[in-house]
Amino acid sequence: SGPKNYTSSSSADRLLGGLLSPDFEASTCLSRYQAAIYRNRSPYSPSSYLLHRLREYEALHRKCAPHTALYDRSAAVLRSAGGNASAASECQYVVWIPHNGIGNRVLTIVSAFLYALLNNKVLLLHIPDDFTGLLCEPFPGATWALPADFPIRDLFRFDTKAPESFGNLLESKDASIDSRSYVYLHLPWYYGDWDKRFFCEDSQRTLRKVPWLLLKSDHYFVPSLFLVPEYADELRELFPERSAVFHHLVRYLIHPSNEVWGRVTRYYRAYLEKADERVGVQIRVFDNFWVPFEKMLEQIMSCLLGERLLPKVSENAVAATSIDTKVKAVLVTYLKPDYSEKIRDAYYRRATTTGEVVGVFQPSHEGSQQTDHRDHNVKALAEIELLSLSDALVTTAWSTFGYVAQGLGGLRPWILLRHTQSPDACRQAASPEPCYLMPPRPEQCFGDGGGHAILRNVRQCEDEGGGIKLF
Ligand code: GDP
Repeated sequence: SGPKNYTSSSSADRLLGGLLSPDFEASTCLSRYQAAIYRNRSPYSPSSYLLHRLREYEALHRKCAPHTALYDRSAAVLRSAGGNASAASECQYVVWIPHNGIGNRVLTIVSAFLYALLNNKVLLLHIPDDFTGLLCEPFPGATWALPADFPIRDLFRFDTKAPESFGNLLESKDASIDSRSYVYLHLPWYYGDWDKRFFCEDSQRTLRKVPWLLLKSDHYFVPSLFLVPEYADELRELFPERSAVFHHLVRYLIHPSNEVWGRVTRYYRAYLEKADERVGVQIRVFDNFWVPFEKMLEQIMSCLLGERLLPKVSENAVAATSIDTKVKAVLVTYLKPDYSEKIRDAYYRRATTTGEVVGVFQPSHEGSQQTDHRDHNVKALAEIELLSLSDALVTTAWSTFGYVAQGLGGLRPWILLRHTQSPDACRQAASPEPCYLMPPRPEQCFGDGGGHAILRNVRQCEDEGGGIKLF
């Protein structure tokens, strides 16, 4: 902690141990090389094999990027009558379709990227207006944005009923899957058993032949890729430390644009930098899991005090000891202002028992989720980034917003548990890995043998008994 030197990045590891390519003009995306200065040093280092595969991927992406001859050839397959893939295109693609909030989107960009990397496919993003200009390009010398003239129109129409979905094709025993020019992969939380067969080894093999895969999901599905036997060796070499898979990939891929980063750095320097310690508190109250205000406030405070993240408020107007005591800054993110006002008032009115001083800050209170508004999304991403700069982080169970912050920061958050799950206020996560909240059952693919890979690679999530996470 303490003041940092923002102009010289020589002391910080600006390329994150070789994760980032040095081949970018820094000013076009300040966050890319500055993030390392603002964040605490990562306790995890990427493997040299991961670095090698990322550079290989970048070369493939450049070769197949939009507006190249190879891209045009692949796209032409989509235009040809019948849409048959036998024109055997050299470049194959995964087209990401955004779904739900920023947290969901980041988790699925990362998951889709790893899937593409494992299959030597190229990841392209469908970027709607509400998501334009939020992220920098992650691959040097090429764009990851799907061109506006992409032959398949209206990607948002793909959903449960799409006849081109992999699940529906399987269910109708369509024998043409591996010769199709494109297939839609339907992987949001409301996916069905046939869709879930995406994670089976035979499906993975079939889909390898399809030049265009359109993918929609809202979850971190990476843990299920670790259960596909064919990927096991490669993944082990890529990620000798399974608890840092998301941490490395999200820091590699997700760099907020200068517009977002400007907010992050201004807020940080104005309100958080001078504190001795920063505690992030990410509060999320879901409509379908309502918790009364007083009950939630009590849970938040009992976590913060019980885990000694904040000192208790005393009965006294002034502190008994006030020399050399620390200043703690609490960054609260929530859609409404009420929790942070309560907590701020409590620490303002009376001294703490330790003499420490606690300031409470909340950058915005948007009222409600408005994912189709660009400016709203800019604020959300800025706050996720700000949370990732914390020294200690408290998150809410089931929230992908918190998952992304913990991953970017390499932090093991204290998760505010659902009261239906545990009487404890919170529990510290074993790693910065997000939870795959609604995974397919491994028996669906591998019969009873599915349990074996499960035991070795994944564990139950801290915040959801039915969810799996890498460990
Ligand atoms: P999840 O729903 O908690 O898993 O997280 P998502 O990020 O996918 O979706 C929630 C969306 O609601 C966010 O992307 C924001 O648009 C909005 N939102 C929720 N909590 C906050 C918050 O604390 N701050 C801001 N600015 N937006 C929030």
